Order: sequence, then structure tokens, then C-alpha cells
Amino acid sequence: MTMSSCVFPGSFDPVTLGHMDLIRRAAAQFDRVTVTVMVNVHKKGALPLEERMRLLRKACESLPNVRVDCWEGLLTEYLRKTGETVILRGVRTCAEFEAEKEAASANRLLYPKMDTWLILAREEYACISSSVVRELAAFGGDFRKFVPPELTEDIAQALLPCNS
Ligand code: ADP
Repeated sequence: MTMSSCVFPGSFDPVTLGHMDLIRRAAAQFDRVTVTVMVNVHKKGALPLEERMRLLRKACESLPNVRVDCWEGLLTEYLRKTGETVILRGVRTCAEFEAEKEAASANRLLYPKMDTWLILAREEYACISSSVVRELAAFGGDFRKFVPPELTEDIAQALLPCNS
């Protein structure tokens, strides 16, 4: 039997309960899930790459078939290098669906073996985004309902206005 595997790429700046819901659902369906923090040279993240990866690893500790990786450059090159073919993306809104559809078509032109699977966000998580967490943390708001409980302190520290 061959192993099933997929890649979940994103910024994870920082990881939220919305991301974790997708990761858990993927981990239940695939033998191996790789969560890949994509580094965008043109987009300076709020958290350094190492911190985003550390938080993801901590949140995924109880999921033995999930690993965390990173990549700077094109996703299609990452897939060529790793031999992975399936990527997962979450869809919260129609706008996100349109954008993902376009990206999936472009990626398929670049790398025909690549397949994009879109996963519907669960309703209770659909309003959660890393940018809302960053905004709340920067202004001292309560973001606890949006992030894994074990990361609350780390995220508060990492996003303190004086650290950015
Ligand atoms: P990117 O900058 O690549 O969109 P993000 O870290 O914001 O990276 O998101 C990574 C993936 O997780 C995207 O496919 C996004 O749609 C999905 N995602 C983010 N938040 C949620 C959520 N609350 N529910 C479901 N999927 C989500």
C-alpha cells in the first residue's frame, strides 16, 4: 500500500484555531501531513520564520503524522523537490475561493502533477484569521478564542507592540 500525503502551505503568522482545525481534519485522512511555512521575500511577516515554526510544532505535538517544514520560493518547486503532489487550502469566503481557483490553475500549468484540494472552513472558525489575531494582540485585545490555548502566552509575547 502506498502512503497518502499532502502539504498544507501558508504563512501561519501566527497559527490559529482555524489552521489547526484543517490540520486535524487532514491528519485524520492522510498518512502524512506536512505543514509548510512559506517565506515570502516581499512580505515581511509579523513573527520571524523560526517562531512561526516553533508555534506550529508546539500546536501539532499530539499529531504524530504531522510535521512542520518551511520553504522560500515557489510552491511548485517545493513539490518537485519533495515529490509531494497534493496541497490543501482552506476556504472561508467566496473571494478566497476565487483566488484559490486562480492559483490552482496557474500552479497546474507550472506543474501538471500538482493537485489543489480546497477544504471548507468550519462555520465556527470561518471568522478566524492570523491578521485578526495580530490586530487584537497589538491593541491588547482578547485573542484567546482564536488560537490554540497552549500558545496564548507565546503569541502574546511574540506580538507585543514593543517587539515588532
Ligand atoms: P496565506 O498567506 O498563504 O493565505 P495563511 O496562514 O493566512 O496563509 O493561511 C493558510 C491557509 O489556511 C489558507 O489556505 C487559508 O485559507 C487557510 N485558513 C486560514 N484561516 C482559516 C480558518 N479560520 N479556517 C479554515 N482555513 C483557514
